[in-house]
Amino acid sequence: MSSLFELSVSALKGVGAVKAKLFSKLNINSVGELLYHFPREYEDWSKPVPISQVQGGELCCVRGKLSATMRESRLPGNRFMVRAEVSDGFDAMRLVFFNNKYITSMLKYDTEYLFYGKASKDLSGVQMVSPEFRVFKNDEPSMHPVYALTAGLTNKAVQNAVKQALELLPQKVSDPIPEDIRNEYGLCGLREAIVNIHSPASPSALARARQRLAAEEFLVLSLGLRVLRGKNTRRKGSNIKVDYTEDFLNLLPFKPTGAQLRAMGDCTRDMLHSVSPMNRLVQGDVGSGKTAIAACACYNMAKNGKQAAFMAPTEILAEQHFATLSKLFSNTDVKLGLLTGSCTASAKKEIRRKLSEGEIDIIVGTHALITDKTIFMSLGLAVTDEQHRFGVSQRSKLLAKGETPHLLVMSATPIPRTLALIVYGDLDISIVDEIPPGRQPIDTLLISSDKRHRAYGFIRKEIDKGNAAYIVCPLVEEDESDLMAAEEYAAELMLKEFSDYAVGIIHGKMKYSEKEKTMAAFAAGELDLLVATTVIEVGVDVPRSTIMMIENAERFGLSQLHQLRGRVGRGEGKSYCIMVSDSTSENTQRRLSVMCSTTDGFKIADEDLKLRGPGDFFGERQHGLPKLSIAEFSDMDSLSLSQAMAEDIISESPDLSDDKYKGLRGAVKRLFKDTEGTMN
Ligand code: ADP
Ligand code: MG
Repeated sequence: MSSLFELSVSALKGVGAVKAKLFSKLNINSVGELLYHFPREYEDWSKPVPISQVQGGELCCVRGKLSATMRESRLPGNRFMVRAEVSDGFDAMRLVFFNNKYITSMLKYDTEYLFYGKASKDLSGVQMVSPEFRVFKNDEPSMHPVYALTAGLTNKAVQNAVKQALELLPQKVSDPIPEDIRNEYGLCGLREAIVNIHSPASPSALARARQRLAAEEFLVLSLGLRVLRGKNTRRKGSNIKVDYTEDFLNLLPFKPTGAQLRAMGDCTRDMLHSVSPMNRLVQGDVGSGKTAIAACACYNMAKNGKQAAFMAPTEILAEQHFATLSKLFSNTDVKLGLLTGSCTASAKKEIRRKLSEGEIDIIVGTHALITDKTIFMSLGLAVTDEQHRFGVSQRSKLLAKGETPHLLVMSATPIPRTLALIVYGDLDISIVDEIPPGRQPIDTLLISSDKRHRAYGFIRKEIDKGNAAYIVCPLVEEDESDLMAAEEYAAELMLKEFSDYAVGIIHGKMKYSEKEKTMAAFAAGELDLLVATTVIEVGVDVPRSTIMMIENAERFGLSQLHQLRGRVGRGEGKSYCIMVSDSTSENTQRRLSVMCSTTDGFKIADEDLKLRGPGDFFGERQHGLPKLSIAEFSDMDSLSLSQAMAEDIISESPDLSDDKYKGLRGAVKRLFKDTEGTMN
């Protein structure tokens, strides 16, 4: 198997330079990678339906023979179409193919075919446009794989390539999971799994294949994270000598919560005493006050004569942190800097010079911090905020800016405890499970859209009290006409319901400077109502906003809704969250009702996991882990199974150096290949 990872896909028939390039867009360069490009779903060709029972608008399979002569006609612009007719013995269906000059020679009369495609139905009968087809044979596997594609690469081309790749699989495939472990955990062999994932002999064979491959994927992930952790803990850190936490607490404008104090203590202890650099995740719900914890660690590092970098995923957030820290440290000798993509070239240059010459102690910034041009004099601490927005590789790029800097990552996405060990296998965790006093719980309600106008009235009342409001719409995407485009929506509000109020809009397609201006105006009280897409999701803090309305709430995941809702209830005033949804799906209703019954992010995460399974969690890529290809078909059981396997293996061979684990070592390397510098 491992040699197939060295064989280029262009070795396959029908894959020339052009196709190879398309494959590489899908991250497939070798035959091995192709075999690990698992189908997204399967078309079921096993149950052809009679034409009389075809449902318009749905994918279906029809079995039949051509029943009329094929006719070709020219279309404007050098295009043409071929019309055909098939009969299943009782009824007929029309077929249309566009610009396919081979059709007339490919389709034979008197041969029975299966046609698969989306059918349409109207007064003139049933029709399929450009269906897939193949000669009907009784013994053919009936589940056809559907692959993730890229423009120019058809499913058929991938199927053909995979078919050849499967033929190249040796009879005895070296399996990364050693046989004794496989037997112990009841997993099928790799060869069987790979063959059946691409070309399932039966639904149960497919299930076995998925179980085995998902287990392997989680195993590799979990081993990788553990090995990474092992590596990190072996290096000696840039430890601090003096604890300045007391000083810091005197600068804070509020009394820290117990949970904040504990987390600050964890960080200081790591940086003072540990034999290896800190590798810590601070996980706390939105509004639990994580910024102060990061600020404390940065202050400690700065006062000990080394630099700290505080990286945020968006410019708005970086700006906000910079403002917070500037205020906090205004009467100290700690020197701050801000570096984001939208600083002018000369400003960037100046900041970078200061950084490299040690004239800045704490730099706040975005991804601009990890570009090659940014050089630190002596980076002692790297902090990443909202770490689920960063990849493992970005984290390690920031770390590579110093000799052995400490690492602090912060996340406001509570994740179920059962998943934490896997997702953050490489980190120590401090949990901030206390909300600063004086906050009132947010009242959350779910309404249908016919109540929207009453909700607007309620929002106006809140604004009249001097508060501010958000209305959140799903993504601005002009081509998704069913979504309310935020722009149009805002314009409508300005003209009608909120014509006497100052309404602003913010969305992902705006230029940064515009976003920033709008956000600043909102924070300063110049705007009463902000219509927003999810760009406000991450960490933006405006205490006077007390009400949020979320349109099409069913389109958001629970964790995302929770994040959004965290934008209100940040001050002392009573806050509200109104979710608007007309969805009648039972699952959606259940999900949204969880939001109404609790504001505890950890509880919400647990419910989310129960309702959606771990697959969705890994599918969303909200955690900065490498991309997994099959995890979405997994369940909690396969996850725990992989954990147990990983523990067995690590206890036997902590760094996987044992020859028995050569295959797993290779797989770990492949999965984490973007994590430069951390693995070797
Ligand atoms: P998050 O954990 O979501 O990043 P922030 O650090 O942005 O939370 O804090 C949210 C708000 O709570 C800020 O306005 C901050 O000043 C305030 N805050 C943080 N800790 C406390 C505290 N212990 N007492 C009162 N207010 C606090
Ligand atoms: Mg925050």
